[in-house]
Amino acid sequence: MSVWDDLPGQEHAVEQLRRAAESGSPTHAWLMTGPPGSGRSNAARAFAAALLCENTSGNLGCGECSACRTVLADSNPDVSTVVTENVTYMIEDVRELITKAQDRPASGKWRVIIMEDADRMTERTTNVLLKAIEEPPPHSLWILCAPSPADVLVTIRSRCRNVNLRVPSRESVTELLIRRDGLSPEQADFAARVSQGHIGIARRLARSEETRKRRETTVRIPFALKTASDAVRAAGTLVDLATAEATSSADDRAAEEERGLRTAFGIGADATIPPQLRSQFKQIEETRKRRARRGIHDSLDRSLLDVATVYRDVLTLQLETNEELINEHMREPLQDFADKAQPTETLARIDAIGLARHHIAANVNPLMAVEAMMVALISHHSNYPASRGARS
Ligand SMILES: [Zn+2]
Repeated sequence: MSVWDDLPGQEHAVEQLRRAAESGSPTHAWLMTGPPGSGRSNAARAFAAALLCENTSGNLGCGECSACRTVLADSNPDVSTVVTENVTYMIEDVRELITKAQDRPASGKWRVIIMEDADRMTERTTNVLLKAIEEPPPHSLWILCAPSPADVLVTIRSRCRNVNLRVPSRESVTELLIRRDGLSPEQADFAARVSQGHIGIARRLARSEETRKRRETTVRIPFALKTASDAVRAAGTLVDLATAEATSSADDRAAEEERGLRTAFGIGADATIPPQLRSQFKQIEETRKRRARRGIHDSLDRSLLDVATVYRDVLTLQLETNEELINEHMREPLQDFADKAQPTETLARIDAIGLARHHIAANVNPLMAVEAMMVALISHHSNYPASRGARS
């Protein structure tokens, strides 16, 4: 076993990282890019483990020594992983990281700072970070993660070595879910297909019936869009589902953190929290709120991508490319849908979804953006009987 095992389909990137770790003098700043779910943060953590690995037989990133195990468990004092709970990083957060990067590593090897979502930085924050990357202390190594090199400012990009992860193939995700998560081949295959190579979503879908139900409700929305009031209702449903998912996932994490804190201080599950510890518990609550807020954004974006898979399948059927459908289990209604519209209309709908995603990312009120999208999704469709009449 090794720390590279859980990176399906990324042989090229793994080779690059492994060589850098073995060289003993890797570049001090790395930019790990790849679409969401391709395993950017896993790759960053594996690289950090290989850099700190204590194995002496040449198998760096052995996965067995205490350095490898603690890095993978996120509990190694020399590795800091930061992820913003807000829509963008706060400048204070980045200053704190830079201070941390100055500390000598306890292991004597490297102090590694993994910054997830490096694309979520304002230009001012980026400039603060830039200085740190330009003149790094000899023992510090930065790994920035972003969807693509274009998502970070060119000043940062030009100072980092880029490692690009691919969308893992459906087969490799299926194989991972069976091997690592113990899923049945059928469960793993369904989850790998509908998640389109997003490993985290595939795992959630495979494990949680609630998540599967939410996705099913989402992908059936396009079939029920006949009138403007349907569109408004559907937009409400989609935003509610995203809110529910974000809230429940933030609640789960907060409950877990509270349990951990209670155990650490020896406070029973139902015992009252002593006044001197209240601020620490209050912090968990603050973090929960922030996570839930940001989670709505992320989960709404995923829902929109799910809706887009429906039109992608419709287009596949219209163009008769014989490609596999993402939503194979809905083939019949999809075929029906495809027969009743033109590929140009389908493309316009896919564009409308892209526009809504863009607006939400730019902080437009989510409900308004989704409503506008839903209306665009029906307007073509409801015109359809008239236009067919005209054509025939
Ligand atoms: Zn090791």
